Amino acid sequence: MPDVSRRRFLTGSSALAGAAVIGVNGAAFGALAPPAFDLVIRGGEVIDPSQGLRGIRDVGIRFGQIAAVEPSIDPSQAKLAIDAKGKLVTSGLVDMHTHIYPYGSAIGIPPDELVPFSATTTYVSAGDAGANNFAGFKREIVAHSRSRVFAFVNISSIGLAGFPVGETLNIDYADVEAAARTIAENPDLVLGSKVRETLSLVGANGIEPLKRAVQAVERSGTKGRVMCHIGDAPGDLSALVDTLRPGDILTHPYSALGNNTVQNGKVLPALLEAKKRGVLIDVGHGAGSFNYDIAEQAIQQGLTFDTISSDIHVVAGNTPSRPYLPWVLSKFLALGIPLEQVIAAATIKPASIINRVPKLGTLQVGAPGDVSILELVEGPVELLDTANKPRTGKAYLQAVQTVRGGVPFGRPYNLPFSVN
Ligand SMILES: [Zn+2]
Repeated sequence: MPDVSRRRFLTGSSALAGAAVIGVNGAAFGALAPPAFDLVIRGGEVIDPSQGLRGIRDVGIRFGQIAAVEPSIDPSQAKLAIDAKGKLVTSGLVDMHTHIYPYGSAIGIPPDELVPFSATTTYVSAGDAGANNFAGFKREIVAHSRSRVFAFVNISSIGLAGFPVGETLNIDYADVEAAARTIAENPDLVLGSKVRETLSLVGANGIEPLKRAVQAVERSGTKGRVMCHIGDAPGDLSALVDTLRPGDILTHPYSALGNNTVQNGKVLPALLEAKKRGVLIDVGHGAGSFNYDIAEQAIQQGLTFDTISSDIHVVAGNTPSRPYLPWVLSKFLALGIPLEQVIAAATIKPASIINRVPKLGTLQVGAPGDVSILELVEGPVELLDTANKPRTGKAYLQAVQTVRGGVPFGRPYNLPFSVN
């Protein structure tokens, strides 16, 4: 929890001794005009790569939107306040690759339960649901989560319900028409189709599931993308990569599992070609898909990332490499990537790929009131990759507090407690 400044708590009630206590401005309860802001996040170091902003600012939120980002906001204008002094303040983190369908897929975690560790306000479900269980995802997860949720529909109609059995071992589950219908019927929520192209998951079906995912987004009549997971490729990885279209997303580029992106120290030319034609690169750390040596060689040779994502799920979350998004971002700091670039890859970059909510991923006035408060804890710190190999970083990012649509997770509680 954050340090929060104690301001007047109603009228003169005593402080909780030693606890971080939230102030509620008494003016909200009296005859005076209400404060201009529902919430002010005070004194943090704002980093907003979308507008090249880095500096100490107060952030005022009203009616669920960013209403002011100023060097100082009059404390009397804040109904609630969070003291972010000494912390970083960013637009709410956006995680392009997560697994958030508990009860309907085997490995999902409720997104709101991730928040204390992830400081993430927007989660993209990477194929947890397919055509047969997508309605359940929509009704049980999307509707009941305070977190913002988007999704790729698995090309397999069962999604990840069969875990650990591969969802496209039986190619009949890869029903193009059913996936196309689900994509077309949910344009506000669905970004395209997800496919996992790993030998053990597709068996003899090779890249047929990927081809069907491309057909599904095309048949849907949307501009949907394909998100393609790679691991130990079923056959020629170059042929697989050549199937991806501009705007499609390749996830797990820095995996060291089998037939992969860097072979004999060289990035496969097909991957650099793909990047050149506009295929997007998503990190997707997960339980086994992030190797420092591969990442370093790949990035040096031009296979840079567009988005840094966690690929958090039940199995990954229990590993010592701990792929919660701030911890994953910290690994890129350890690789020497500048802080602003790391933050951009988990805010404005994924938000503009999602492209469903104006100003998502920014702290511009009028943007959604989604804010992450992070602490940059000075190191040295040991950060493990998925082979459990350590790198020592100079600092790491830690979740402090998360605000979604102007409403903090945890304290302070807004009144009335309404969420948008
Ligand atoms: Zn995944």
